[in-house]
Amino acid sequence: MLALSNGMHLSAMHSEDELLTFLDERESQLSAVAIHKRQILIVDDDEDVHQATTFALQGLEILHHPLEFLHAYSAAEAETILLREQNIAVILLDVVMESEDAGLRLVERIRHDLRQTNPRIILRTGQPGYAPELSAVRDYDINDYKTKNELTRTRLYTSVTAAIRSYDQICKLDASRKGLELIVAASGRLVAENGLQAFAAGIITQIAALLGVGAEGLVCAQELLADESGENSTPQIVVVAAAGRFAGLVQRHLEEIDSERVRDAISRCLSMKTNLIENQAVALFFPARSGNHFAAFIDSPELLSEIDQHLLQVFCSNIAVCAENTRLLSRLHDQAYLDRLVKLPTRTAFIEAIDQHLSTGTTSGYTVGLIDIDQFAETNEAFGHGYGDAVLRGLAQRLDENLGESCRIARISGDTFGILGLSWAIRPEKLRPLFAEPLTIDDEVHHQLSVSMGFANLADVRSGNDAIKNASLAVKLARTMGPGRDAVYTQEIGQETRERTHLLHSLHAAFQHERLFVAFQPQLDLNTRKPLGFEALMRWRDDKGDFIPPDRFIPLAEQSGLINGMGRWVLRSSLRTLRRLHDAGWSSLRMAINVSVVQFQADDFVEDVAQAIAECELPPALVELEITESVAMNNAADVENKLHALKALGVTIAIDDFGTGFSSLSYLDRLPIDRLKIDRSFVNNVGNGADGARIAEMIISLGHKLDLTIIAEGIETEEQRVMLAELGCHEAQGFLFARPMAAEAIGQWLHDNA
Ligand code: C2E
Ligand code: MG
Ligand code: MG
Repeated sequence: MLALSNGMHLSAMHSEDELLTFLDERESQLSAVAIHKRQILIVDDDEDVHQATTFALQGLEILHHPLEFLHAYSAAEAETILLREQNIAVILLDVVMESEDAGLRLVERIRHDLRQTNPRIILRTGQPGYAPELSAVRDYDINDYKTKNELTRTRLYTSVTAAIRSYDQICKLDASRKGLELIVAASGRLVAENGLQAFAAGIITQIAALLGVGAEGLVCAQELLADESGENSTPQIVVVAAAGRFAGLVQRHLEEIDSERVRDAISRCLSMKTNLIENQAVALFFPARSGNHFAAFIDSPELLSEIDQHLLQVFCSNIAVCAENTRLLSRLHDQAYLDRLVKLPTRTAFIEAIDQHLSTGTTSGYTVGLIDIDQFAETNEAFGHGYGDAVLRGLAQRLDENLGESCRIARISGDTFGILGLSWAIRPEKLRPLFAEPLTIDDEVHHQLSVSMGFANLADVRSGNDAIKNASLAVKLARTMGPGRDAVYTQEIGQETRERTHLLHSLHAAFQHERLFVAFQPQLDLNTRKPLGFEALMRWRDDKGDFIPPDRFIPLAEQSGLINGMGRWVLRSSLRTLRRLHDAGWSSLRMAINVSVVQFQADDFVEDVAQAIAECELPPALVELEITESVAMNNAADVENKLHALKALGVTIAIDDFGTGFSSLSYLDRLPIDRLKIDRSFVNNVGNGADGARIAEMIISLGHKLDLTIIAEGIETEEQRVMLAELGCHEAQGFLFARPMAAEAIGQWLHDNA
C-alpha cells in the first residue's frame, strides 16, 4: 500500500526498472504480450544471421526483461509482423536484402507510412565499407549502425540494451503525453457538464479512461453540516455519482455502502486529504476551497505505474479547480432556478419548462395558471414579514401536495405562483377548493387565503414568456372585479391591452408635445343662472383630430403616473385662465379643478397647489379642488392632514360624483368639505320618476344639515333645473347652460350670459 501526498515522490520506492515493469503492465493489457517481455524483430534474408543473433542473446534478460524474438526474411514479411505486433522494442534490420536499399526503404515505411515511431532500429550490413547516408540516420530516427561481424554477444547485448532503454523512455514519454492529452480533454468535458452530479460521473469515466480500465467506481462529496448552534460541523459523506457495479449507490451515505474496502478507502482518503493508491484500487482526493471535498474510488486491476500515479495527481489537482467552478455554477444555477424561500422552481425555471413543453408541439389542452394572493402587502405590513413568508411557504406546500404530481409549480414573483398542467385540472372550479381550508401558520394560527387567478391557454402562445404575460393580464382583469376572482385570457383581452399600451404611448407624446388643452364648463346659480365659476376639464385631440374622452385616458395616466405631470399642468393652465378672467373684471369667478387620487397622494401636492396659486396671485378662496369619494373615504391620517393643510391655504374642497361610491358618510363630518356635487346619474333621473330624484333629494337635505353647498352636475333640461331648485339645490352645471368650452370662448359666453 502506498499513501501519497499531493506533491508525490515515488522514485525512492521503486527502481527505475520496476517502474518500467509497471509501465509495461499497462501496455500489456492493451496488447496481450506477456508481462516483462521485450520483443526484438530480426529482419534479414540470411537464416544464419537469425540463428547467430538468437543464439547470442539467448537466455539473457535486458534491464530485467526477458526477450522474445520475431523473425522476418524480407521487407514485406517484416511489415506484416509490424502491423500485427504493436509493441516491438527493437528492430535489427539488414540493409541489403532483395535490393541494395530494401532495408532503408523498410525504415521509411515504418516511420512514415506505418507511423511507428517508438521501435528502435539497429541497421546491419554485411559489407563493412557500406554505411547509410547520415541524413537517413537522422531522418528515420535510427539508433545504431553495425556491420554484421560486429555482432558478437557482448556488442549485441550493449547495443540492444541501449535500444531497449531508449525504447522504454520513449514509451514513458508517449504515455504521459497521451495521459496529459486525456486530462486536458477531460477537464474540458467536465467543465462543460451541467451540475455536480454529471461532473462527478464524468470524473469516474475520465479516470477509468486514464487508467485504461473499465468505469467501475464512485465519487463521494463531503459536506460539512453545521449543527444547530452553527459552530461545530460534522462531515457527511454522500455518493454523488457511481458507475459499474456501484451504480445503485448514488445519493446513499457512505455508511450505507456494504463494501468495507470502499468505505475505508473513501473515509481515509477524505480524512487524510490525500490520494491512496493501493492494490487493486485507487482512492483519489479532490480538494475544494469550501472545505467540502470530493473523493473518487476506482477499481484498478493492477498496481499503478509511476506515470499513471503522476497523471492521476495532475488530474486531481486540475479537476479540483473544475469541481470548484462546477459547485459555483450549480449554486448559481440553483439560485436562478430554485426559490429558496418556498423551495419551488423560479420564474426562470417555469418559463423554461413552458418553452420546453411548447417545443414538444402538444400545446392544446394545456394551461398556465397564475395564483396571486390578495392583499399580501397588507398582510405583510400587519403581521410582519416572517408571517408573510410563512403564508407563502404554506401556499407553496398546499399547491405542491395537491398538484405537484401532475403539474409544474413555480413561484413567479413575490406573491404569485404559476402552475402548468392539463386544462381540465388548471381551472377555477378545480383550484378554488384548494384554498377553502385555512393555512396553518407556525402550527397555531389559521390564515384564510383569498387569491385572484388568471389563466392562459398554451395554444395561444409561442413562448413561456407570452404564457405568463397572458395569464398576468387575466389576473389583472380578475383583480378589477374585486378580490377572490378569476379570469381567462382571451384574444379580446390581449387586443384591449395592446390598444391601451398604444394609447398610453400616444398620450405621452401628446402631453410632451403640448397637444392637450383644457376646456371650461360654467357653474351657475341654479335659481338666478348667474355664472359663479368654471370647472376645468382636460381635453385630448389625437393626431387624426378625434377627441379621446378623459374617462378613457385619465385612468391610463393614473396607472402610469403620468397624471402627476398632467395634473400640475392643468392646475397652472386653468389658474392662469382664471387670472385673465379676473384681470378682465370677472374677479368673483372661481375655478374648480379635478384632482386624481394619485395626484393627491404625491408628497408635494399641497405645496404645489400653494405655489400655483401664489404664481397667479389669486385669492385662494376662488380655487376649488374636486376630489372623489374614494379619496375622501381613505381613512389614512395622511389624507386628513392634507385636506386640512389645503383648507389652511384657503382653497375650497368639493366632493365630485357624490353618491356613486359611498359606503360611509362619516367622513363628511370629519373632513373640511365645502361642496357636494350630485352625480350626473342622479340628476338624469330627476323628473322621470325613478329613484334618482329621491337620492338627489336625500343628498340635498344632507347638504343642508351639514351646512354644505350643493351643486348638481349634468343638468340638461329646464325640468331638471326646476325640480332641483324646488328640492333646495344651490348651484348647477350642465349642457342646459353651457358645454365645456375653449378658454378663448369664455369671454364671449360671459358677455352673453352674465
Ligand atoms: P367630472 O369631473 O364629473 O366632470 C363632469 C363631466 O360631465 C365632464 O365630462 C363634462 O363634460 C360632463 N358633463 C357636464 N355637463 C353635462 C351634461 O349636461 N350632460 C352630459 N352628458 N355630460 C355633462 P368630461 O369632460 O368627459 O370628463 C369626464 C371626467 O374626467 C370628469 O368627470 C373627471 O372625473 C375627469 N376629468 C376631466 N378633466 C380632468 C382633469 O383635468 N383631471 C382629472 N383628474 N380628472 C379629469
Ligand atoms: Mg369634476
Ligand atoms: Mg362629476
